[in-house]
Amino acid sequence: MSISVHNISKHFGDQKALNAVSFSINKGEIVGFLGPNGAGKSTLMKILTGYLPADEGKAEIVGLDLENQLSEVQKRTGYLPEHNPLYTEMYVREYLDFVASVYKNAKKPKIEEVIQMTGLKPEANKKIEQLSKGYRQRVGLAAALLHDPEVLILDEPTTGLDPNQLVEIRGLIKKIGQDKTIFLSTHIMQEVEAICDRVIIINKGQIVADKKLEELRAHEEQVIFVEFDYKIENVALQRIPHLKSFKNTGGFSYELIFDTKEDMRPAVFDFAHDHGLKTLQLNQKTRNLESLFAELTNTDV
Ligand code: ADP
Ligand code: MG
Repeated sequence: MSISVHNISKHFGDQKALNAVSFSINKGEIVGFLGPNGAGKSTLMKILTGYLPADEGKAEIVGLDLENQLSEVQKRTGYLPEHNPLYTEMYVREYLDFVASVYKNAKKPKIEEVIQMTGLKPEANKKIEQLSKGYRQRVGLAAALLHDPEVLILDEPTTGLDPNQLVEIRGLIKKIGQDKTIFLSTHIMQEVEAICDRVIIINKGQIVADKKLEELRAHEEQVIFVEFDYKIENVALQRIPHLKSFKNTGGFSYELIFDTKEDMRPAVFDFAHDHGLKTLQLNQKTRNLESLFAELTNTDV
């Protein structure tokens, strides 16, 4: 197990930022930690990297106990904090050299390797303040990778990037994830869809879902709410193509669930017509990953 978290709780004064959070992450997984602002993502990541103590619970990283073996844990973990604090007046190579010598015990060849790996080569002789936000994120990632950690903890690594930078950084994280375990936080479901194998959703300090992406995708479905002007037999309804299930929601109204992406409204309309019914209402909605996230966290997307 790369990361395992058991019943971690954390209060700030009266406020419960984390409430008995538990999960575990296998070696090599890229897991998205998804939740709205204030859900507790950064707090958990700070606990996992030893910047904050938990009030209750325990965690292990690569089998090492966080509380008793913190310095060993830190050697095996790379952390990109939220907002990526950097010394912007330093040059890129100078900064990485500084981080390597002060914190990471990394040697010169490693610095060149991470510069190469994160695509920083063309900018490596510039001052950090001259770099775009996308390149600054690369510097943060490079710094987190200097000691070749097995586990990377990335706190909102793509927030504030423009669409091109976003694609590049996501690609880079995916590439790095080929041989590392990555736990990254985000408040955007598309980010999880673009990079992750699995998502752990947190809301108000509690885990509300923990699923593999393929499992979630299998649950994508189309829901049609229809109201007819007269009664229809269930056996007749069952003949609508691609219908997975249905329920009567009162009167002559039905919720029809389809397992296809094809818009089934015309088929429902034709069905009604063929059975001599009038369609009084017809609404369609897709239950996808976005709407699942919205449902679980009570937010609008
Ligand atoms: P997220 O990263 O998901 O946006 P945070 O972990 O930063 O959420 O915050 C979780 C909750 O804890 C928020 O309500 C936040 O205001 C509160 N919080 C976080 N850090 C502190 C702190 N140092 N002091 C007081 N409250 C805090
Ligand atoms: Mg945060």
